[in-house]
Amino acid sequence: MGVARFALCKISSSLLPRMHRPSALRQMSVAADLKNSTIFRSQGLIGGRWVAAHDGKTLQVNNPSTGEIIADVPFMGRRETNDAISSAYEALNSWSKLTATERSKCLRKWYDLIMSHKEELGQLITLEQGKPLKEALGEVSYGASFIEFFAEEAKRVYGDIIPATLADRRLFVLKQPVGVVGAITPWNFPLAMITRKVGPALACGCTAVVKPSELTPLTALAAAELALQAGIPPGVLNVVMGNAPDIGDALLASPQVRKITFTGSTAVGKKLMAGAAGTVKRISLELGGNAPCIVFDDADLDVAVKGVLAAKFRNSGQTCVCANRVIVHEGIYEKFAEAFSKAVQNLQVGDGFTEGVVQGPLINEAAVQKVESFLQDALSKSHVHFGHESERSTSRSTRAS
Ligand code: ADP
Repeated sequence: MGVARFALCKISSSLLPRMHRPSALRQMSVAADLKNSTIFRSQGLIGGRWVAAHDGKTLQVNNPSTGEIIADVPFMGRRETNDAISSAYEALNSWSKLTATERSKCLRKWYDLIMSHKEELGQLITLEQGKPLKEALGEVSYGASFIEFFAEEAKRVYGDIIPATLADRRLFVLKQPVGVVGAITPWNFPLAMITRKVGPALACGCTAVVKPSELTPLTALAAAELALQAGIPPGVLNVVMGNAPDIGDALLASPQVRKITFTGSTAVGKKLMAGAAGTVKRISLELGGNAPCIVFDDADLDVAVKGVLAAKFRNSGQTCVCANRVIVHEGIYEKFAEAFSKAVQNLQVGDGFTEGVVQGPLINEAAVQKVESFLQDALSKSHVHFGHESERSTSRSTRAS
């Protein structure tokens, strides 16, 4: 089978400013409304208190669509992380002793509050992450569903009776909360990545120290505010952000943190895995991949185009399951490339608050440069087509990025 790889994703920087300008004012008013809302928080949460960094340092959170500053949040490090761990450890005693049903009631309330603030949370996601509002609202429901699901599921955490090898013994497995959980999350799903980690942890009786991405901490802080409003006791959920390596190191070094859960890059995941060994922590990692999308020559063209479009362009290509490579059978290549190219040209690029926009901005300038470099790489190899002579070089380019 011949293969061909093509660069699929480019948000043209020459288009963006033109398309953003009309909505800049609207974005400012959305930001102003959100800042006055009861869910907006711009400090860290430690032991149920909203706090600044001990030295008062802050970092800016920018709107990726306009570059404007939305808020300043504390630039925290080891000291604040250790405070957060102590609070979580203290809260563990009482939270873990509640019945799963009692915890479930708190979590259900949190779920309800998230859903009743769906509009504001969705706007906050669009504001700090950039994805179209419709997708952001979808993320709120998706993110909230983890809390609902695990609050129910934790009521059914059964143990096991194991057949014993000796007649006078009885072996059983009793499942207990592991302890304080450190959760480190990325910016592409500012709410769902947090609820997916915190929902099961809290439901089981663990307490948590969350470190959201510094690029999108406001959604995490709003969700934490709603957790407090739901009656989740102080210290059960703590949020710190700032110096990522320092915060990570503090979580790893603490013997009180018994589990690390992380979604992000493979490089950071490896560091965390190595660092967790020192105190033999449990660890769950969801890392990057290099996912191919394969189109065979008997594919239904419309379905294939729709499928690849969704796989490649969701969240402007910024999800961990986005296709990195598209491999098309030579028998359908020409037809597919033409139909796909047309479909891509029809995607509306712009800011996430504009009706009809399906491609928001990339998260920051570094991401734009990365896509530009992929594009240049693909263009420089555009003379390479599938076929007998060039097959070797084509496969090499397929693996290159
Ligand atoms: P991405 O490239 O998707 O942003 P990263 O792995 O860099 O992936 O980031 C995912 C999360 O990991 C973010 O919250 C980031 O701040 C955090 N992070 C980055 N470096 C470290 C580190 N050394 N220790 C702990 N967390 C880190």
